[in-house]
Amino acid sequence: MKQSADVINNIVSVLQESLPTDKDFIALHEPSFQGNEWNYVKDCLDTGWVSSVGKYVDRFEEMLQEYTGVKRAVAVVNGTAALHICLKLVGVERNDEVLLPALTFIATANAISYCEAVPHFVDSCYETLGLDPIKLGDYLQDIAEVKDGACYNKQTGRRIKAVLPMHTFGHPVDLDTLVEVCDRFNLELIEDAAESLGSFYKGRHTGNWGRVSALSFNGNKITTTGGGGAILTNDDSLGQLAKHLTTTAKVPHKWEFVHDHIGYNYRMPNLNAALGCAQLEMLHQFVQEKRALASVYQKAFSPIDEVSFFIEPKFATSNYWLNVIRVSTEWSFLRDEILQTTNDLGLMTRPVWRLLCDLPIYTSAPKMELTVARDLEKTIINIPSSSYLGAAYAKA
Ligand SMILES: *Cc1c(COP(=O)(O)O)cnc(C)c1O
Repeated sequence: MKQSADVINNIVSVLQESLPTDKDFIALHEPSFQGNEWNYVKDCLDTGWVSSVGKYVDRFEEMLQEYTGVKRAVAVVNGTAALHICLKLVGVERNDEVLLPALTFIATANAISYCEAVPHFVDSCYETLGLDPIKLGDYLQDIAEVKDGACYNKQTGRRIKAVLPMHTFGHPVDLDTLVEVCDRFNLELIEDAAESLGSFYKGRHTGNWGRVSALSFNGNKITTTGGGGAILTNDDSLGQLAKHLTTTAKVPHKWEFVHDHIGYNYRMPNLNAALGCAQLEMLHQFVQEKRALASVYQKAFSPIDEVSFFIEPKFATSNYWLNVIRVSTEWSFLRDEILQTTNDLGLMTRPVWRLLCDLPIYTSAPKMELTVARDLEKTIINIPSSSYLGAAYAKA
């Protein structure tokens, strides 16, 4: 039996040898501004167009449409706001249930709560780290029934309106299987693609599968606008409604203030969109760099039996937004010590989120049995993943 100290030393050496830098602190994820960021932001300041009107918002939306292949992208203040409006757009109402993974960032569940709807937690799978569509289908077969075209939870009596999967750390869930489950139970599909800009499922971009989807441009994401998000849809009328609802629902008129819905001030300022345009110009390069870093990690960790480097699912081309190692079950007791040692050495690592159903605010929410999510929660460690770390490898 190996000693714990040897196992930890091995992991640290692999990390140090994989990272082509002599910095004494390496963040989990840092943004990179090496393109037109200064030019475009300066242009906003020089022309005075910093706020809710200006050319960069339109340009940013067009660039997103082109990259993701969706018909309509609507830029908003952040990813959580994008999720909130996505749920409204598909008709999620008070007391509806929305299915989502228990293993996701808090924003996914909070957006459901903003609609006064009820999050209903689903297990994850080992292949994708995201929602398990086969297990979900079997579960719904037991607990749900479709009546008059709507799906109901037989245990709570509430309508189940939608499924909200999340592409964990950039790795797509099995969308074909999930789409089939949604069709079978009459559920709307909304993708939380906050982490997966640059990730494709069977050649089609994530966020281009659901009726509506959400992106995030927070500072830690693959491209940033400082803070920001976007709603994606292939449905023209939903796209128009998304723009309308996120811009105070004002009826266009030269001077009158008429608003025909309770709208939101969720629009993305021009200043942020300018930063976003410059970042999207770099997106292809960021993805190449991140994939190059992931492949270096993959090789470097392969001789280490106690941890495994997580590889993209076979149907996916992932952006490898945040790299993942998993400590084997036998050694999972070492997770916290690995986190402690690496962080003490200036190598930033993080555990995955706590399962949302265990947070006091969500303990009373409905959930299925969560064996895999609980195992992933105990064994995932995120390791440094900034695109600059892969730059040298991508060129090689
Ligand atoms: C980042 C993120 C969001 C949105 O976050 P914002 O900070 O509001 O832009 C939503 N869901 C997931 C899974 C995320 O990682």
